[in-house]
Parts: sequence; C-alpha cells; structure tokens
Amino acid sequence: MSRMIEMKGKRFGRLTVIRQNGQDPKNADLLWECRCSCGNIVTVDGSRLRGGYVRSCGCLRRELARERYTKNEGFTKNMGNPRNLRNSDGIMVSSIKESQRNTSGVVGVSYDKATDRWLARLMYKGHYVLLKSFDTKAEAVEARKAAEKVYWRRNKQDKQTVV
Ligand SMILES: [Zn+2]
Repeated sequence: MSRMIEMKGKRFGRLTVIRQNGQDPKNADLLWECRCSCGNIVTVDGSRLRGGYVRSCGCLRRELARERYTKNEGFTKNMGNPRNLRNSDGIMVSSIKESQRNTSGVVGVSYDKATDRWLARLMYKGHYVLLKSFDTKAEAVEARKAAEKVYWRRNKQDKQTVV
C-alpha cells in the first residue's frame, strides 16, 4: 500500500497523480488516474509513468509536433525563401511555376496574381528566352507570338525542342 501513497500527488511531467484506478489486466501494474496540467484526466500505467514514457495526456506530444513544424517553417524562411527570388525582369520565380497551372488560355502567357501583371514566357533549349511581365494580356500575347516567330523558326533549323 505504501507504493500507492507514494504515487499519489506525484508529478510526472504535466501529470499529477490523483488516485489509483484499477489494474492493468496484462501486467497487473496499477493504473493511476492523473490530471494533466491542461485539465484532461487520463488513466496511466504506473510503470509507464515512473519510466517517463508518459508525461502528459497527449497534449505535450501534440505541442512538440506543432513546435517542430513551426521551427521548420522559420528555418526555411531564414534560408532565403526561394519563392522570393526574382529573375532579372523582376518577376517572382515562383509565380512562373504557379502560373503554369493558372494560364490565360494562351500558351506561354499567364496572369501573375502577386504583381497583377501578365507574364509572357518562352523556353528555348532549357532557358527562358522570353520572360517579361506586361500590364495587359494583349501585350503579353504579342510578345509571346513575336518570340515564337524568332525562336520557333530558329528551332526548325536546328531541330531542338521548344517548350
Ligand atoms: Zn494535457
């Protein structure tokens, strides 16, 4: 019985033992009703409590997971967010990728929500030979068409693939 008294009122992490509450049918360990600092009541195996395996009702693990997630996010930000990279024309590199799913209906022309401008792009031999932003869709389409003329003609000559 002394073990019971010993456990009562003890703290294990966030858990404070309230009272003995039954027995684990598997290993005959005493179960203890504990109050977590968050207010939850949980019943925990005494050996798991003493072994330090259980230190909260589960809220601690949830918080740690959240913290890890937040830290990772912060870490990524400090790395220099690649989403904020801009090309020489001042266009967000990320918007180029995003705009590929969000096109205007004209190949190589897309609307960039972030800058409220129209992007015209043409890739030639793995590089952007056209990557400019315009105030209007018409201007962007025109630029794309003009670039197509130049590079697609050139392309026919050296039989390279144009994306
Ligand atoms: Zn808790």
